[in-house]
Amino acid sequence: MTTSRSTQAPDHTSTSTSITAPPLPAHRDEWERRLLADTRLLDDIAYTIGGPFHLLYPQRVGVNIDAFREQFRRHGIDGAIYYGKKANKSAAVVRVCAEHGAGADVASVGELSSALAHGIRGHDLVVTGPAKSAELLWLATRHGALIAVDEPGELDRLAGLGATARVLLRVLPPDSTSRFGMTGIELDTVLHRTDPAPIKVEGFSFHLSGYDPIARSELAAALVDRCLHARALGHPVTTLSIGGGFGVDYLPDTAWRAFTEDHDPHWFHADKTFDSYYPYHQRPAGPAALAAVLDHDDLAKVLRAHAIRLAIEPGRALLDRAGSTVFRVQGVKTRTARSLPYQLLTVDGTSLSLSEQWFDSEYLPDPVLWPTRPGAVTPACVGAATCLESDMLSWRRIPLPRPAVIGDLLVYPNTAGYQMDSNESSFHDLPLPPKVLLSSSPDADPEQPPRLRWTLER
Ligand SMILES: *Cc1c(COP(=O)(O)O)cnc(C)c1O
Repeated sequence: MTTSRSTQAPDHTSTSTSITAPPLPAHRDEWERRLLADTRLLDDIAYTIGGPFHLLYPQRVGVNIDAFREQFRRHGIDGAIYYGKKANKSAAVVRVCAEHGAGADVASVGELSSALAHGIRGHDLVVTGPAKSAELLWLATRHGALIAVDEPGELDRLAGLGATARVLLRVLPPDSTSRFGMTGIELDTVLHRTDPAPIKVEGFSFHLSGYDPIARSELAAALVDRCLHARALGHPVTTLSIGGGFGVDYLPDTAWRAFTEDHDPHWFHADKTFDSYYPYHQRPAGPAALAAVLDHDDLAKVLRAHAIRLAIEPGRALLDRAGSTVFRVQGVKTRTARSLPYQLLTVDGTSLSLSEQWFDSEYLPDPVLWPTRPGAVTPACVGAATCLESDMLSWRRIPLPRPAVIGDLLVYPNTAGYQMDSNESSFHDLPLPPKVLLSSSPDADPEQPPRLRWTLER
């Protein structure tokens, strides 16, 4: 996973005496506003499940896919969207990708099988990852998937399979220390030596860390010449894949600035510090970041001129605002820092279901305390129901709008991308939180607005 982040040194010179971080309220999609405003639905789901759970609203993934595709259309280019499946394991997300004409980027036999089983056709898969297993290469060729070849030896292994293989050659970006991709010399050797009959080189791919659209645009532009050269050698090149890393904008600019500019370790339980965070506020983000890639030096025009299809592999960005994670408060302690009281909450799950802690960082969008009631702002940090000192969901003291009490719910917003299930395990023999699928459907009474229904993901 690529989670490169902006780095902020904690500001030790701050003169603030506050023990509470500024509020970091997440942007909300319409389905979340309806859910939080509903006086019963969330409570009914929590009561039925009886433990922590993830919510997914797959229809939002469809909206995100359509918004990326709209950028291809506006720029008059041929484009393809492959969902970076490692960002979330949900079958319902794959299903909605299939329904909206997106493929998937998979990297294991399990991911490939799951993508096929939930409706994505073999031709619409791209198989990435280093040194792929024999089983994965065999299945990928059987199903006609594109294979992003990571090293020259992989081409020999494909040739040995005796079937036709569709491949992209993965490029090691210049001046990169990445362990993935091939150097310029390796690419040249491979292009000259590969027989286009069984191995169809359909193009090139890369995946950059960070979220900079300009870097993606410039590397894509530099690879256009490589595409033309490969065509001249007889390879049926159609596609340039620029990978994922379309940023997600979780928080408003003002909130993010208040957090980063005045960043103070005293906002955190035990004065905990982190070296870096995901950049929770980004402009451009998602489909607008794709537009920035295409607009820079008019990349779109170059792609059009040479009839090159641009492929993207967004993971996190397709899941933007498509899910949240719900825990129940099962313990409340009062502690003090600098003589000021705060709540130390314990919830009924673990940070394995909110992964950012496992990347030495913290998930910063504020959880919503539900039910929403007026009260006095109360700082609170959030610990897990485990015996690990380090298992905290939120080390920072969040300004909750009222004191939390046992039985309240904490709804962590926008967790579908990487937070929910990348790191989950049944540590302590705790059950894995199930995924609850929400959908919007017309009410029986046509005078009423559409309502939310829920089911469990199978
Ligand atoms: C992880 C990954 C992606 C998805 O990255 P996001 O940052 O979630 O968009 C796409 N392509 C490759 C090759 C990856 O490894």
